[in-house]
Amino acid sequence: MAEIRSQIAAFRPPATEPAGGAESFRQALDTTLRTARTAGGVPVELTKYGNGRIPEQALQRVGTTGHRLWGPAAASLEAMMRAARQQGVTIGITDSYRPFAEQVDLARRKGLYANGGLAAKPGTSDHGWGLAVDLDLDARAQAWMRQHAGQFGFAETTPREPWHWAYRAK
Ligand SMILES: [Zn+2]
Repeated sequence: MAEIRSQIAAFRPPATEPAGGAESFRQALDTTLRTARTAGGVPVELTKYGNGRIPEQALQRVGTTGHRLWGPAAASLEAMMRAARQQGVTIGITDSYRPFAEQVDLARRKGLYANGGLAAKPGTSDHGWGLAVDLDLDARAQAWMRQHAGQFGFAETTPREPWHWAYRAK
């Protein structure tokens, strides 16, 4: 009888929830929805606005700079700039999210990329989705970016523009 009692005392019902519980599942789901991208790489949460037509509150500021990007891209850029700084490398930002009207103006001033210029067709630029930054890089910073940017999801995507880096995801 004493043996049965000790077996009952030692009994623990099996856990009915996955490790972490319902709350962490909800957080994981939120993160998944917030970071989802279309087949073309556009953040799903931004598609309803359109390229170059994203409101202020749907974007995230990059640290204390006045620059804004899609949230996950802004967070990753901040982490990358911090990592560079720790290695004595300075990365400056000259451009980030670009509204449609500014892309039209840029195309007028610099010409379309397809015609040998330096501007994407308005409505197609990664800047219009808050996914691209133009960086101020000296030779050392350029080399650092080519070696480390991929770890932070950034890629050098435009052949004649070594300053242009797009967030492709991690
Ligand atoms: Zn650019």
